[in-house]
Formats: sequence, structure tokens, C-alpha cells
Amino acid sequence: MLTLDAHPSGRHFLQIPGPSPVPDRILRAMSMPTIDHRGPEFGMIGLQVLAGIQKIFRTRHPVVIYPASGTGAWEAALANTMSPGDLVLMYETGHFASLWQKMATRLGLRTEFLALPGSDDTGLPLSWRHGVQANLIEERLKRDTGHEIKAVCVVHNETSTGVTSDIAAVRRAIDAAGHPALLMVDSISGLACADYRHDEWGVDVTISGSQKGLMLPPGISFNALSPKALEVSRNATLPKAFWAWDEIVEMNKSGYWPYTPNTNLLYGLHEAVEMLLTNGLDAVFARHLRWAEGVRAAVNAWGLPIQCADQRVYSPVLTGVVTPAGVDADALRKLIYDRFDLSLGTGLGRVKGRMFRIGHLGDCNDLTLMATLSGVEMGLKLAGIRVTDSGVQAAMNYFSAHPQQSGLKAAA
Ligand code: PLP
Repeated sequence: MLTLDAHPSGRHFLQIPGPSPVPDRILRAMSMPTIDHRGPEFGMIGLQVLAGIQKIFRTRHPVVIYPASGTGAWEAALANTMSPGDLVLMYETGHFASLWQKMATRLGLRTEFLALPGSDDTGLPLSWRHGVQANLIEERLKRDTGHEIKAVCVVHNETSTGVTSDIAAVRRAIDAAGHPALLMVDSISGLACADYRHDEWGVDVTISGSQKGLMLPPGISFNALSPKALEVSRNATLPKAFWAWDEIVEMNKSGYWPYTPNTNLLYGLHEAVEMLLTNGLDAVFARHLRWAEGVRAAVNAWGLPIQCADQRVYSPVLTGVVTPAGVDADALRKLIYDRFDLSLGTGLGRVKGRMFRIGHLGDCNDLTLMATLSGVEMGLKLAGIRVTDSGVQAAMNYFSAHPQQSGLKAAA
């Protein structure tokens, strides 16, 4: 067991793509005393949190909050809208899309898993290096003249690869096919980092979680709904009890939940929403885009391939770095962890051992990212991996040449 004595000095560098580093302000908010979740004070907090989170999803419709990790919210989205044997069209962008597809099958749904076939010259699966191809979805839906497909499910920011798909394009594809399928989007790691518009993009269910762009610890997750999703849920027959939207949405009207909500995480959420909205969502997105540019400048200088092979869909949340053939990316991660107390994201599923991930989300700034890149660069050299140039220098050049325009700073 980890004792306090065993804890290394200084702050650990948590640069995995979620859970992300939690700002002190949020940690302090969460340390407030736990209160009666049926009392009057809680109802006020509940209403404020529910109204605030709608602004983050950019929706006027209900957002359901579960005391569960993101996986629970995936299940909730399917259980509330689908019936046994329904056909769901999903798209393989990476590990998380694959896990969601596996879950759909386990719930008794039929799935079709669209993907770009084959691999490229790195040997990595093509579909894990590109975003959702909306044209493939449109073609498939056009062939479904009997409207057997009940939902299209895609991942907005594929955390296993660092690819952010164009959700508006998926909406246009569904409309172009004139198909009534629901659009369900996993924005577990995209929300509050990358531009996201639940209502404007016509998303029926958006799934998200607390531990990424919202900068909270893991433990709460979300379903943002559309009126159509709520309507469909009335006749959907997959078993659901804890996840059922109807009772939660009803009780939420007065700021309460039918079960014991995660009180202290809701304090944290209240604080996170306040921070994000004060900063301005567009400034928050710009901040992540800029960090991503700086990190990619480093990776390009090292001469290592970026997992995302399409610049148009580079993720502002994380960057996947492909290690040279024959180099075990997990051994490199371990070396960096042991030597520099720096956690990097592991390669997951089909890219395990072939790449690692650098998170640029949560309580970061230019200097924490510079420290992270220094740790990686030292690790690469210690592992005997030849780099073309100094990534640290490239990122320093980028960050110093491109000052951050935060909403608050711009207004000051
Ligand atoms: N979907 C995406 C895109 C994720 O990044 C994650 C977790 O990292 C999940 C789903 C699963 O969420 P959780 O691990 O919180 O259950």
C-alpha cells in the first residue's frame, strides 16, 4: 500500500488523457461538508448544477447526471432508447468505440461496425488513425430503406487515438439519407475541451463523464437528451431501472434525484461549470487547441509519427505518439514514470505497445506541458530512441511565439 512516506516529492505529473489534473479550487469545493441530499440547500445546488451543465453541452434540454463512470452512461444511453434485437450502426475509431460496440452486443442489440479497412505502412489499423467517415454512414443509411437501423453511435473524441470526429458532418449524413435513426455521441473526453454543440448538431443523446474536460475526479457521468430521445425512450423495452431517465428527469425539476447523488462531486461540478463559463467556452477550446499545437510541434521535432494521420481531425485533448517499430511503448512509459514521476497514457487495444498518449487537458499550463515534454524527451534518449531534433525546444518556440488569449486575460 502507498504510504505518505512513499509519496515522491513535488506533484505527480498526471498527463494521461483523463482522469485529468484537478484544479485546487475544485478540490477545495469538494471538501465542503456532505449535506442532506433531501434538504433545502441541496435542492438549490441541484438546480444550479443542472442549469449550468446544460450550458456546457450547449443544450436547452435535460441533462441526466449519474453517480457512475462513463461506461454507465454508455449503458444508460442504449438501455433507455433501444429494444432487444434492435440494429445499431456504430463506427470504429478506436478502443472506446470498440468497447461501446461490445457493450451494445452484450445488451442484446445487433450491431454493425463500420470502419476503414486495412492498415497503413506503420502497420496500425487505418480506422484508428482517422475520424468517422460520414460518407460511409450516409451510404449505409441510404441502403436501409426499411429503417431497420435505430441509432447511429459515434465517438466524438476517441481518447485511445487522439482523433476528434466531425459530429456536424455525421448529422448531415443522417439527414442526407433521410433516415430517422437516433444520433448518439460519446463525448466523454471531448466535452469542455473541444467544441461541442448538442442542440445545434442535432444530437439525440450525448454521453460524457466528469474526469476529463470538466476537470473533476472520476465518478459522475451524463446523458444529454433531445426531445426525440425522450420520446423514443417511452416505448423502448431493453430492461432499465437505475438508468431510467423518466424518474430522474421528473425529480430533477426540483433539484433532487431518486437515489443518493454524489454530493461532493456535485459541489466540484458546480465549481467547474463556474470556472469554464467565466473563462468562456470558446476560450477554453482555444486553450486546448493551442496546447495541442505545442505538443505536436514537439512530436514532429522528435520525428515520431502522430497516431492521428489526418490533420483536420487532430484532437485538442490528447496526442498519440507512435514509437518506432520494435520499441515497446509501455516499456518507455514505465521508464518515464519510474525516473520522472510522470504518467503518460498507454496504448489501448489494437495499438497496445505501439504508441503512448500525452494528455493536454485539465489543470495544465504551458510550463506543466513543457515539464511533461522534457520528461518524454529525456525518456526517449534514455531508451535509446533516436530523435531528429529537440521537441522541447520546438514546443518552447511555439508557446513563446503564440501567447495564450484566455477569455479572462483578454478582458483584463
Ligand atoms: N469513452 C471514452 C471516449 C473514454 O475516453 C472513456 C474513458 O476513458 C470511456 C468511454 C469509458 O469511461 P469510464 O472509464 O469513465 O467508464
